[in-house]
Amino acid sequence: MADRMLQFVRLDQHQPDKRPATARREDFAEIYQEFAPQAAAAQSSRCSQCGVPFCQVHCPLNNNIPDWLKLTAEGRLEEAYEVAAATNTFPEICGRICPQDRLCEGNCVIEKDFGSVTIGSVEKYITDTAWENGWVKAPKPRRELAQSVGIIGAGPGGLAAAERLRMRGYQVHVYDRYDRVGGLMIYGIPNFKLEKEVVLRRWKQFEEGGIQFHLNVAVGRDITLEELRVKHDAVLIATGVYKARDMAAPGIGLPGIVPALDYLTASNRAGLGENVPGMASGTMNAAGKRVVVIGGGDTAMDCVRTAVRQGATSVTCLYRRDKANMPGSMREVYNAEEEGVTFEWLGAPEAFLGDAAVTAVRAHRMHLGLPDATGRQQVQAIPGSSFDLPADLVIMALGFDPEDLPKAFNEPALPVTKWGTLKVDHRTMMTALPGVFAAGDIVRGASLVVWAIRDGRDAAETMHSYIEQKSAALAVAAE
Ligand code: FAD
Repeated sequence: MADRMLQFVRLDQHQPDKRPATARREDFAEIYQEFAPQAAAAQSSRCSQCGVPFCQVHCPLNNNIPDWLKLTAEGRLEEAYEVAAATNTFPEICGRICPQDRLCEGNCVIEKDFGSVTIGSVEKYITDTAWENGWVKAPKPRRELAQSVGIIGAGPGGLAAAERLRMRGYQVHVYDRYDRVGGLMIYGIPNFKLEKEVVLRRWKQFEEGGIQFHLNVAVGRDITLEELRVKHDAVLIATGVYKARDMAAPGIGLPGIVPALDYLTASNRAGLGENVPGMASGTMNAAGKRVVVIGGGDTAMDCVRTAVRQGATSVTCLYRRDKANMPGSMREVYNAEEEGVTFEWLGAPEAFLGDAAVTAVRAHRMHLGLPDATGRQQVQAIPGSSFDLPADLVIMALGFDPEDLPKAFNEPALPVTKWGTLKVDHRTMMTALPGVFAAGDIVRGASLVVWAIRDGRDAAETMHSYIEQKSAALAVAAE
């Protein structure tokens, strides 16, 4: 191994090429290119094969990263894929959109002195190669079971559970109010981070494996939770968080102010070839407009970069803290800067100006004060610091809260936390309703795809145990 691995002493860190910002601004294609095979092997060989691999420890899926890096360095790509896929339902998606700088790569021991191993890009390379070579198989079980499960939500949480349970042989039914599978991976995250074909091919494979999707079905509207509980042996709620946070300010209701997810969904639907009314009418289209995006998370970064690609005349991100305190991935901030986005740090909106439609955002400067109980510096407005940002389109990206699920599902016995997320027993992931489990953002609050996958896989295991115990108890009772 010694001559093949630990090459960080000799080889510099190298990411796959990124398309130039001038070209990226013109289309919605992904911005990172693929590694050439030799480059992937060389970059993998930089791994120091730590005894305690912090990359793995800090991966929510505990991906066996050192092993698949070593296999890639040795050119054993099919085995590398198998190791990567053993712990992750969608390694090609995590390779593209995980904030590796905060997870695996941010904890790589050679990061400080040599630059981390480019784990995310290698993961993407391995899995894309696996797809090209037909190594990725539909989840077909060896035997069929009579029991069935109902999964509400076809996002990464629900899909990860669906795949695991199908592999065990269950009859898996996934219900989603959207018309496509993927949740935020299809309608939230833009193409330039995750091309939709990557999600659509998984959907196709899951159907080939026998997972049954019931689309355009909103639980609470078209079918009740109670009906699903009667129909299935266990139910998983993986509905994500969709209630956009709002703010109170003069002029907030003016035309031209839109919620981030509506804006991104319109763009993603248009990218999928749909005729989206808001794109034609211009309400959801930044072309020719001065755009201000309010917020500093990943959603805000997706909005500013979408607006650039739609042909906005200017794009400004208004964020109340400074760059160092942005919640979004720093890599995405750099990408946005490269693509021409202007950042107004330490600025918060105080009013939206305009008569028939918004024409400007009035903002004031903020000062970062002492940390609060959570350790985060408090923001304070600086008196007399108002300034105006001209705007024809304002996109509000202030974060998301859970919808009122007990009300939507007409199930008052479904307990929620003070934040509105579902309360579960964290050992079993079961809610207070027997046989009803929950996973993903609806339990954690707005989080990451990788955490939703982890939750979905964990929930699948505990749902399986629950069904087995229930079946055993019924068998004893029948004797
Ligand atoms: P979701 O993906 O939200 O899926 C929930 C599904 O449930 C949806 O399909 C919805 O239609 C369905 N549903 C909801 N209610 C009902 C109902 N009553 N009946 C039937 N179906 C219902 N994470 C990353 O790791 N990297 C990123 O780069 C990243 N970028 C993001 C960009 C944006 C704009 C947003 C909004 C989020 C981003 N995230 C990112 C976060 C990530 O997308 C989520 O954490 C993840 O998708 C949560 O998965 P989930 O399965 O819990 O929920």
